[in-house]
Order: sequence, then structure tokens, then C-alpha cells
Amino acid sequence: MIIKTSKEEILPYLEDTSNFKEGSAEKVFIPQDEKEVFEVVEFAVKNKLPFTISAAGTGTVAGRIPKEGVVISTEKLDKIIDIDIKNKTAVLQSGVVIYNFLNEIKKFNLFYPPFPTEKGAFIGGNVATNALESIVLGLVQQESMLKK
Ligand SMILES: Cc1cc2nc3c(=O)[nH]c(=O)nc-3n(C[C@H](O)[C@H](O)[C@H](O)COP(=O)(O)OP(=O)(O)OC[C@H]3O[C@@H](n4cnc5c(N)ncnc54)[C@H](O)[C@@H]3O)c2cc1C
Repeated sequence: MIIKTSKEEILPYLEDTSNFKEGSAEKVFIPQDEKEVFEVVEFAVKNKLPFTISAAGTGTVAGRIPKEGVVISTEKLDKIIDIDIKNKTAVLQSGVVIYNFLNEIKKFNLFYPPFPTEKGAFIGGNVATNALESIVLGLVQQESMLKK
């Protein structure tokens, strides 16, 4: 587990692409595996510390910026565990960068449609925000237009 405590180290976790400037956190925890995720969540709950999950920080609405408590960053949970080509499913840790995942599945001629325009986003951030790229909206629109 990496733990960041100094003001300079914490500062980058108090911003995303919004203009929110009032973030504050005591510490940043960076778990490196599932066991460490459990440990840090248990610690926060026991100590009644609010915790905020931080992914790549490309969000536009300050969702990853805490006002108090601690940050749990998923940046080291970046493993692609399994890609099932036949069933077109994949198991990823939440800190996998979407761009890396896209590159990996491209080898099998597969595509992950609901990725936001920002390829640096993590899969966990993508799922949590339900972010979609315009290509998907375009396809949905096309489909509903076809149905009409
Ligand atoms: C240039 C640009 C273009 C963009 N284009 C689009 C677009 O086309 N469509 C769109 O919808 N969005 C878009 N976005 C917004 C943003 O990229 C998406 O919302 C993205 O999916 C956020 O991912 P992230 O990893 O940066 O998450 P962060 O910004 O770090 O976090 C976003 C939220 O998700 C939560 N979260 C992250 N990981 C987890 C987890 N593992 N478990 C629980 N909660 C979690 C955080 O707490 C926070 O509330 C764009 C942003 C930029 C800068």
C-alpha cells in the first residue's frame, strides 16, 4: 500500500477537469491489490472517515474530489485479468486505462463502445459515471432513426 500524506503529494488528487477548488483530504491511500482495498475501506469505516474513490481525474463534475476524509486511488489496480473472446466479456481491475484496454482488444478485432472521449480515463471511472462517447450516442440515434 502506498500512502501519501504531504500537501504536495495530495494536491493532484484534489482536482479533475472541473473548476472545483475546495477539495481537502488527510491522506491518499493507493492499494495495490484487492486485499489492500479491503484493508483501507475497513480502516476508513472503523475510524468514521469519509472516503472518496479517485480514478484518472478526467471527470468534469468534481466527483473524485473529497471535501474531507481520505482518498482511495485505483491507479495501481491496473490489471487486465481476462479477455474472453468467444463470449466478448472481460474482467478488469478498476484502474485499467481505457486506452490500454482498447489497444489490447483491438488485437482480436473487438471494440469497447461505451468509452468516453477521454481515453486516459480508467474503466472504473467510466462505469461509475456511466460515461459514453458520442459514437455510441450516434449509433443509438441512428438505430432509433432506423426504427422510425
Ligand atoms: C476531453 C474530455 C472528454 C470527455 N468526454 C466525455 C464523453 O464523451 N462522455 C462522457 O460521458 N464523459 C466524458 N468526459 C468525462 C470523463 O472522462 C468521464 O466521466 C470518465 O469516464 C471519468 O473517468 P475517470 O477515470 O477520469 O474518473 P474520475 O474523474 O477520477 O472519477 C469520476 C467519478 O467516478 C468515481 N469512481 C471512479 N472509479 C471508481 C470505482 N472504481 N468505484 C466507484 N467509484 C469510482 C469517482 O469517485 C468519481 O465520482 C470527458 C472528459 C474530458 C476531459
